Amino acid sequence: MPISAPQRGLTLLAALAFAYPIRSADTNPPLDGYSASASQTEREWEQKFRAIPSSERQQEYMRRLTARPHHVGSPYDKDNAEWLLKQFQAWGFDAHIEPFDVLFPTPKERRLEMTAPVKYRAQLEEPPLAIDPTSGQTHEQLPTYNAYGADGDVTGPLVYANYGMPDDYEELERLGVSVKGAIVITRYGHGWRGVKVKLAAEHGALGCLIYSDPGDDGYSRGETYPQGPFRPSQGVQRGSVMDTDYPGDPLTPGKPSIPGTPRLALKDSTTIQKIPVLPISYGDAQPLLAEIRGRVAPRGWRGSLPLTYRIGPGPAIVHMKVLSNWDQSRIYDVIARLDGGDMRDEWVIRGNHHDAWVNGAEDPISGQVALLEEARAFGELKKQGWTPRRTLIYCAWDGEEPGLLGSTEWVEAHEQELKDHAVAYFNSDTNGRGFLGVDASHVLEKFINGVARDIHDPETDLTLWKRLQGSTIAEAHTPEEKNEARQRADLRVGALGDGSDYAPFMHHIGIPSADIGFGGETEGGIYHSIYDDFYWYTHYGDPGFVYCRLLSQTMGTLVMRMADAELLPFDFTDFTDTIRTYISNLQKLVKNQQDLTRERNREVEEGTYKAVDDPTKPLKPPPVRTVPPFFNFAPLENALEVLDRSADAYAAQIARLRNASAWPEDTALDRVNHLLMQSSLALTDPEGLPGRPWFKNQIYAPGAYTGYEAKPLPGVLEAMDRKDWDLAQSQIPRAAAALTREAGVIDQATAALSHAAGQP
Ligand SMILES: [Zn+2]
Repeated sequence: MPISAPQRGLTLLAALAFAYPIRSADTNPPLDGYSASASQTEREWEQKFRAIPSSERQQEYMRRLTARPHHVGSPYDKDNAEWLLKQFQAWGFDAHIEPFDVLFPTPKERRLEMTAPVKYRAQLEEPPLAIDPTSGQTHEQLPTYNAYGADGDVTGPLVYANYGMPDDYEELERLGVSVKGAIVITRYGHGWRGVKVKLAAEHGALGCLIYSDPGDDGYSRGETYPQGPFRPSQGVQRGSVMDTDYPGDPLTPGKPSIPGTPRLALKDSTTIQKIPVLPISYGDAQPLLAEIRGRVAPRGWRGSLPLTYRIGPGPAIVHMKVLSNWDQSRIYDVIARLDGGDMRDEWVIRGNHHDAWVNGAEDPISGQVALLEEARAFGELKKQGWTPRRTLIYCAWDGEEPGLLGSTEWVEAHEQELKDHAVAYFNSDTNGRGFLGVDASHVLEKFINGVARDIHDPETDLTLWKRLQGSTIAEAHTPEEKNEARQRADLRVGALGDGSDYAPFMHHIGIPSADIGFGGETEGGIYHSIYDDFYWYTHYGDPGFVYCRLLSQTMGTLVMRMADAELLPFDFTDFTDTIRTYISNLQKLVKNQQDLTRERNREVEEGTYKAVDDPTKPLKPPPVRTVPPFFNFAPLENALEVLDRSADAYAAQIARLRNASAWPEDTALDRVNHLLMQSSLALTDPEGLPGRPWFKNQIYAPGAYTGYEAKPLPGVLEAMDRKDWDLAQSQIPRAAAALTREAGVIDQATAALSHAAGQP
């Protein structure tokens, strides 16, 4: 049902019903990429598909997969992979395990103590809870640590650095506090943990502690576990701090870690951090923070512990010793294939990781059980006579947690095949109750909106689309954003950053990808702790697996509709519209930076900072900076013009096809599909981004200094963020060239489509 009006009161709806004829349910317009008859058949199969996934089965899968800790290298990780393999095989998939050998450090020695002004020895342990049956599997649990931190034995005064992100260091500078020779304590949040360690090291710190503040995911948010879902005082967030310039095995950057690939020596790896790091609980952080003196922390830096947050340095002196076993571990990707029919050489790929930090119920098994029920349902449909037009490849990745190891190594091992055969990649990871969340390539935006309009949310009985529209309007910050959510035909999807297994598909190769999950209502603070387990998930995650079933239905419909389409349902008009906003954001950013820098320099020069400074709490004025130059955005604007025309011409050709009396034969569409597959690859550049050659995509990348967050037009934006204006200018023509290449492929697709439809 096409909806563009906002949700209004009943009276208004009733009035509208008289004003406009209402389309009856059985005259659905054909699906994009489908002839009328194929569309009808597809909708029937999709309905059958959506009836199959079972919440009860998902609960049993989760019970099995989370019964013991299953991190990389553990016996149960391998056991799970073998069990997953058997399930896929039983459902009629041609499945195998693909192993890789990767560097995976595990803790050998961890010690953290305050030696002055009072002594305190940190626990670095998460206590088991009697009510939670798997929390006591202590002998199998990985201790609390951050993988890929450096070995070290260091002592220094403690400095509190808030979230430890770039603007926090600028603030420290103004406060006159240096972290050189100190041990930095930062809190989790506002950026990826690896960035916190990297920045601490770049500023001369000897070591880094990262703790979970109760203001972010503990008692000040809600009741703590097991009375509620939030992080208890000794709960610790484990996690990788690998430098993500090269995801995957640190010893074989950019290459698959298979026999025959030369490995770097450990000391030559560039992705291992330079200083030791430990994640700690707020139970362990509180005594340390309480002994820091010096300046009181700025308002925005204060967390929820019952103490006055101060910055230091010292007098708290901390000794930390961290040693890892730098061993190779074997990881086990489970790859399951369901052969397609007449377009079997085109692959639709779906993945979710299976490894965890400990028992990992929410992360990642809540997504994995959805994937499993999709696979079982496709097996059932196959028995009923359905064959996907394209081949489905279902992947249960290992080694995601340490650094996207399983997916990255697999993508690196199959790079050429993927370029030749992959159509799209659909990823999920954690799943909870609430709203549809989508980050994706924008050529998939219209397609995903279409599926969201066809599936109903079980809590409200609104469509996923309608419910998401509601939340988009409610949470929009400006009237313009609210109006856009009301009036734009499609809801915008976010750009893909980093943080799960889509990254190698999207950023390294350029395959259109989507990362999808439900959330917004499930709350909690058990992320990467021993408490993320079956007991927690079945009480606070998604009791009854209502949204895990919904994820199966949603993802399965996306996979199926993409696999069965006669013509790949890529749309370039939403893509172009998104690129337009990216370019205009860059222009606004430059203008803002110019204005801000000019004003700040002026205030420094006229002595404003001095005039307002409290001499008892002095704050250094910010440094005088070069005002950013005017940029020549013409190459990008010209490329956008070209892209816009190409996208419109393709859309017009699709409209002609839709209105034509006859739909072309599948074989006539082969060439068009092939070109559509090439179109997104055209956005990559073999040289990659400046300083990050593994990241080939010129349109989407995660930020080098934010981690998770996406940086659209990354070559330009990242350079601007670093205030490297010359580099930013030099990247504009490169990004423009990627868009022009894309437009060229779209034009070829338009011509091929016209030819296929028998038009001159
Ligand atoms: Zn995960």
